[in-house]
Amino acid sequence: MQRDVKETVREWLENDVVDLFLGYRMMDGHVLPHAFVKNRLEEADDIVSGPVRYPLEKLAAEIVAKHPDVRIGLLVRDCNQRALNVLAVWNRIDPGHVKTLNLNCCPSKLIEHGDCSYLEPTATGPYKRQVGIDNNMAPQDLESYDPGDRIMRWMYEFQKCIKCYGCRNICPVCFCKDCSLEHPELIETGELPPEFPIFHLTRAVHMAGRCIDCGLCEDACPADIPLRLLYRKVNEIVKDVFDYQTGTSPDQSPFNVLGDQVTLEPRPIGTA
Ligand code: SF4
Ligand code: SF4
Ligand code: SF4
Repeated sequence: MQRDVKETVREWLENDVVDLFLGYRMMDGHVLPHAFVKNRLEEADDIVSGPVRYPLEKLAAEIVAKHPDVRIGLLVRDCNQRALNVLAVWNRIDPGHVKTLNLNCCPSKLIEHGDCSYLEPTATGPYKRQVGIDNNMAPQDLESYDPGDRIMRWMYEFQKCIKCYGCRNICPVCFCKDCSLEHPELIETGELPPEFPIFHLTRAVHMAGRCIDCGLCEDACPADIPLRLLYRKVNEIVKDVFDYQTGTSPDQSPFNVLGDQVTLEPRPIGTA
């Protein structure tokens, strides 16, 4: 199947189906995001389609912002596809300019739509703590703690934060030019850990109707804070209240589920 990916990328580039293809390539012993292009076609032989995850769609949106006419081929798993839908909803990318090559999380399968079993929580995880929160918990299990206990556990988790911004930087749907998390009137510069709860609450609120539950933030967090669980909870509320499931379609917007009450003004692709 690996051969099919290489062949498809070659074919798309050779036949000008796309101008460039965003995927992964092994370089100097590391798997890195890479733009494959027609005049370096031989590089397509090095494409890696194993279980590597990076928000390639975020890179695609940045390229399109600078070169609006470019046609991009993109290696996507289900989480990338959901992020792509969100980027389309937020007018960051025109789906018409992106041709996707879909892969399951399983490295050996090239299928139309994969599943996300790679990220499914297991019943017993390695992250048992005395006073924190188990990364593998379901939101309803977390709610079985009384409110005081719950807040103490989140405080325990958030006090480990070193404000590295890894969670925001890796997030496929965090794309604002001026990020609130760096606004000095909201988040005090140089304070570690960031003041409880404003830093994490701000990001959690921004992930409402936006987080596609890819888990990259949690993977990136050097403090192992259960961020995915926090954003899952936020989006459970969005689903209950607005009947909006993030990332399921490039057309359904969190704004138009409110009917006539809110309208999203179209703006040029790539503006913040
Ligand atoms: S899980 Fe984390 S990285 Fe993924 S979309 Fe949600 S907030 Fe962003
Ligand atoms: S959504 Fe919020 S946290 Fe993410 S980049 Fe924008 S302002 Fe920053
Ligand atoms: S990645 Fe973790 S440590 Fe870094 S800012 Fe985000 S929550 Fe804090």
